[in-house]
Parts: sequence; structure tokens; C-alpha cells
Amino acid sequence: MTDDPIPFGRPMLDGAALDAVRDVLESGILVHGQVTPAFEEAFARRLGARHAVAVASCTAGLHLTLFVKDVGPGDRVAVPAMTHVATAHSVELQGATPVFVDVDPATGNMDPEALAALEGPLAAVTPVHYLGLPCAMDRINAIAAEKGAFVLEDCALAVDAVYGQKKAGTLGLAGAFSFYPVKHMTSIEGGMVTTDDDELAFQLRKRRAFGYNRMLGERARPGIYDVDALGFNYRMSEVEAAVGLAQIARLDAFQAARAENAATLRAALSKIEGLTLFPLEHGPARSSHYCLNAVLPRDGSVHRDTVVDGLKARGIGSSIHYPGPVPLFTYYSEKYGYRPGQFPIAEWLADQTISLPVGPHLGEDGAGRIADAFAGAYREGQKARG
Ligand SMILES: *Cc1c(COP(=O)(O)O)cnc(C)c1O
Repeated sequence: MTDDPIPFGRPMLDGAALDAVRDVLESGILVHGQVTPAFEEAFARRLGARHAVAVASCTAGLHLTLFVKDVGPGDRVAVPAMTHVATAHSVELQGATPVFVDVDPATGNMDPEALAALEGPLAAVTPVHYLGLPCAMDRINAIAAEKGAFVLEDCALAVDAVYGQKKAGTLGLAGAFSFYPVKHMTSIEGGMVTTDDDELAFQLRKRRAFGYNRMLGERARPGIYDVDALGFNYRMSEVEAAVGLAQIARLDAFQAARAENAATLRAALSKIEGLTLFPLEHGPARSSHYCLNAVLPRDGSVHRDTVVDGLKARGIGSSIHYPGPVPLFTYYSEKYGYRPGQFPIAEWLADQTISLPVGPHLGEDGAGRIADAFAGAYREGQKARG
């Protein structure tokens, strides 16, 4: 079956996940049950975090954390220019102002010196571990502290990423993870906020569920509660938690496959002249290998659409992370007046990067097939511009 197409990502669900979902559906307890706490406990233990709070998505987790920390109008939050729009939207949704920072050309991560150069106070910094490689967190934490800001890590692509002796999600005040179908692990939709801060964890739990001052499921008389604060409905369902918990049992195998595929693919592509490949390790940072991004030359001498089409013609799916510097998306450029040229590294990545699959769905010869396909597609891309 070596010629089956390889998609960019594919959720890895097995009989155990199906059984777990059936058990939840048959139990009739679809929210406020015991599966979500079990998932939270397992995730916290894996990361070495004191608390993990399950939420509806990573976006919900980012927004909820900024809400609980009372980030609002007049506050400024430093956001990398190269990220998913969710990182910036969570700031906007609070009426606060995202201040965009360009990224490091060696890693695609928030450039600490560009962060340090920002003038004026910051309420928060939201470093994003780009494609799974942790940011320079020692430096970012130090700069954030100088500016009076707390640090909220966007760990959507960083499950099990390591920085020194610690995992992503335990490097700042809190970290937000995504369990969207094609991320490292899935709960269908879903996310998790990790933190060592007891009060923050308490408030996240309370405010993800309307601000009830007592949580349902802990009381003999459900339905009896008081409300002394605002909150959302950002809960995770028991079905989603069951899927997530079943994924944790397989996560070691998933991550080992990712690491091996990424290393194989990177070694094969390193022979291609003009291509930039970001490191899988950088100082104390070790990637969680979300994908391997191949960045085409800055001079535009290789035509990206042609390479992507060439991959597709050879049965290889790819993706783009991300299709724009966030400040140049229409909403942000119209609101704040950002213009091309202000974030040169993020613009290079937005225009020239291609994300190649390394997930556990690749199988034995997948990385080799992707490397061969890429080499052919790259030559076509050179000719298209040549
Ligand atoms: C996918 C992604 C998100 C959004 O995650 P959801 O769970 O879909 O809300 C946020 N940030 C980054 C960096 C992402 O890649």
C-alpha cells in the first residue's frame, strides 16, 4: 500500500477510544462526570504541572486565562507576529491590545530582543512555541518580569516539548494546549490549561462554567448553586475527555514516531540547496515535532504554489503555518494600521514556508516517500520561477 496518499495529519483513534466513548454515552453522564477530572489528572502528571484544567479549545483556554487575570481595555499584550490568529484574538476578545513582535529567523519563535525593545508596560506576554520548538523562555521570562507582565505560553503545538528539565506549559504562569483533530493528540475539539498557581486553577475551573461558586458534580444536590462572578461555558464534555484520555495511553508511541520521522525527513532534505530547515533542538529547547517546515529561499526563486501542487500530485499532503503574519491579516491591519515590511521574518515564513507531515500516521516508509516527493516538487518550483 506504499502509494496511498499521505495527508498532512490524521487523528489516530483505535478501538479503545471507541469503547471509552460508548461507555460515556451509555452512562448518560455527558458533562460534569469523572472522566474529565481523570483526563486532567493524567495530563498534569505527564507534564509535571500542579494543575491541568480542561476547556473547550486552546483558544478558549487562552481567552479564559486572560479573562481570569483581568487583562482588559488599556492593557497591552506581546504576541508573536507568526502564530495562529487565536493567540491575538484571545487578547482582542478581552478588549486589550495585542502588540506584535517579529520572530527569530533561526527558529520562527518570538525574538526576545524585539520583545525587549518594546516601549511601555505590558500586562502579559504570550510566547508561541512555533511548530513545537520551545521559545527562549529564560530570556522571555526575564524580560516579561522587567516589564511587569505575566507569561502565558501558547502550547497548541508543544505537547511534550522540553526546555531544560521542564516541559512546555510549565515554563510561565500558565500554558494552553490544543486537542484539535490533527494536533499531537486529540479530544475532537478541546484544550487544556496547565499551571502551578492554585488560585489561578481554582478561578479557571469556576469561570469555565458560568462562575458557579460551587461546581456541579461535587454536590449531593446538583442544580443548587450561587453565582458571585462572571464566567463562560468553556467546558469539555465527557465524550471529549474520554477520547483525550485514551490518547494519553498512546502518546509515548505517537511522540517517538514523530521524532523519528522528523529526524529522517530533516536529514534527507538537508541536501537540498537553498532550503532553510529549522532545528529540532536549539540550546535547552527540544521540539515536540509537530511537523517539519521547509522554508523556501527569501528571494522567491522557488515558487511555493508549484511545490505544494507537486507534493499533492505525488500524494503528499502539506500545510502552511501560518498563512500570514497576524498583524497583516485584514482585521488587524485595518484596526491598527500595520503594513508589509514591519515584520520581515514573519512575512518570509508566511510566504515561503511549507509544513510537511511527520505524524504517527506516516508508517514505515512515509518519511522517505515525502523526501523523494519534496525533491521532485522543489525542482518544479525552481523551474516555475527560473
Ligand atoms: C491550533 C492553534 C491554536 C488554536 O487551537 P484550538 O484548539 O483550535 O482553539 C492556537 N494557537 C496555535 C499556535 C495553534 O497552532
